[in-house]
Amino acid sequence: RYLMRHRHTTPFEMCELKLHLRLPMDCWRQWIRHRTASVNEYSTRYSLAIDAAQTTASDQWRLQASSNRQGSEGFLEHDKGKIFSVREHELHELARTVYNERIEAGLAREQARKDLPLSTYTEAYWKTNLHNLLHFLALRMESHAQLEIRTYASTIGSEIVRRWVPMVWDAFNDYMFHAMELSKQEIDIISRLQAGDADGAWDIAVQYGFLPPKGETIKFNLERGEIEKKLEQLGIRPPWLE
Ligand SMILES: Cc1cc2nc3c(=O)[nH]c(=O)nc-3n(C[C@H](O)[C@H](O)[C@H](O)COP(=O)(O)OP(=O)(O)OC[C@H]3O[C@@H](n4cnc5c(N)ncnc54)[C@H](O)[C@@H]3O)c2cc1C
Repeated sequence: RYLMRHRHTTPFEMCELKLHLRLPMDCWRQWIRHRTASVNEYSTRYSLAIDAAQTTASDQWRLQASSNRQGSEGFLEHDKGKIFSVREHELHELARTVYNERIEAGLAREQARKDLPLSTYTEAYWKTNLHNLLHFLALRMESHAQLEIRTYASTIGSEIVRRWVPMVWDAFNDYMFHAMELSKQEIDIISRLQAGDADGAWDIAVQYGFLPPKGETIKFNLERGEIEKKLEQLGIRPPWLE
């Protein structure tokens, strides 16, 4: 726990884990961005593409989030989702039929595969050390990560890492995953609020550009929104929201 608290990371590099992954290509495209792992992926130049694609149940079509441009929120009504699941099935069937036609005609696997959908499964061996794995989990278990990769990451965390290195898993949750990082500006604002100086906290927020000068209309500010979320978690209500 001390090592985790003080970011003394090299001991965690001594533990290694190798996973055999099976996941859709679109999820893999996010996964492979984590460069600090050794990877060997199933080759669809050498072998036939895996004849399976990730499918979406009619009540699992997620709606575009209004507040986060790269997120989703809520689900399309079940009835409306049915048509998208039917269309998904048709698309998968067509793509697979065209792929098989190319293969049967003797076309090269490396070219025949080019129109397969991103939902097609791939497989890979993925070897990484505990330090890099925890970094991966911190990013991909987090609420901003896409649901699909978040589900894989959460399962790796709770089903594998928790059993493999229980003390590290607890320390990771306590000091990294559920911990909160405060900027200098946030500490300044919180200190004023805790001292009962609401005007002073407001003035600092103006000074740092999170709020316009008093009296002007308060407009959207990304960093102020993030501060407000942290304050909410700490049970502190900022004066400008009163
Ligand atoms: C919610 C979310 C949204 C994202 N959105 C996008 C997006 O819109 N577009 C996009 O392209 N990517 C996006 N990414 C991917 C992101 O930018 C990273 O590529 C990915 O999360 C891998 O993180 P990493 O580089 O820290 O991990 P790793 O590649 O495993 O690297 C671990 C650490 O090693 C160090 N490191 C590794 N390579 C280098 C290097 N070449 N130079 C310096 N330091 C290095 C860094 O400290 C890095 O943090 C997103 C990721 C998340 C979690």
